[in-house]
Amino acid sequence: MSDNIPVIHAIPVLKDNYTWLLETSPGYAVLLDPGDGSASVAALQRHHLTLTHILITHHHQDHIGGVSDLARLTGAKVVGHALDAGRLPPLDLACHDGDSLTLGPWTCEVLATPGHTIGHVVYRIADALFTGDTLFSLGCGRLFEGTPAMMWDSMKKIRGLSGIQRIFPAHEYTLANLGFVLQLEPGNPFLSSFREWVHQQTDLGVPTLPTTMERELRCNPFLRADETDFAARIGLGGKTGVEVFTHIRTMRNHY
Ligand code: ZN
Ligand code: FE
Repeated sequence: MSDNIPVIHAIPVLKDNYTWLLETSPGYAVLLDPGDGSASVAALQRHHLTLTHILITHHHQDHIGGVSDLARLTGAKVVGHALDAGRLPPLDLACHDGDSLTLGPWTCEVLATPGHTIGHVVYRIADALFTGDTLFSLGCGRLFEGTPAMMWDSMKKIRGLSGIQRIFPAHEYTLANLGFVLQLEPGNPFLSSFREWVHQQTDLGVPTLPTTMERELRCNPFLRADETDFAARIGLGGKTGVEVFTHIRTMRNHY
């Protein structure tokens, strides 16, 4: 089974969040960032799945709103970063950077990616990376708690992971991010097909996620802040990766 890739469903919740539902083995599943309990329960019932674990990326309400109800209702184990235990719902498994846990036939790796919040973690399961509010399609999270240097390190950490194909962020921000990226780097040849696809998905009212590592490495400016050609094209030639990252993060705040 580990040669295959897990089946993952999108559950749109709240304004523009996604809770991801991953089938671990026949009849069993885990949820990532259930911001809304009832939407998650409905999805579990629709797919005839028993919940075993709830994985939390960070402490913001839109990611944890449904955790306590779901845990009480299903007995699922709640997983999160030990560093943030004080501001997360009670954890059954308090993890640290680099920890692994077993989810059915899969190994799930916990990776600390501070920046959006200090205790933010992402989860890797097979080819899939669940990035919460650290990495979005064509964007990255706002720096509510961390420094630009921290977030840039988190970008490099994600970029350096081998074997990741699908990326599952927690928000549908792709269309807004696309506008910013087209303005920043209109000459990027990879953006035109991406743009067409994003508009097509948006017109159909279906998610633009998951995205792919390949596409983000070509198009997401926050993963490319140390690309010399890119920096030169956006008028920041000669700046370091962290300087370019800081600059474009600030530009995005004001876009
Ligand atoms: Zn957040
Ligand atoms: Fe969020």
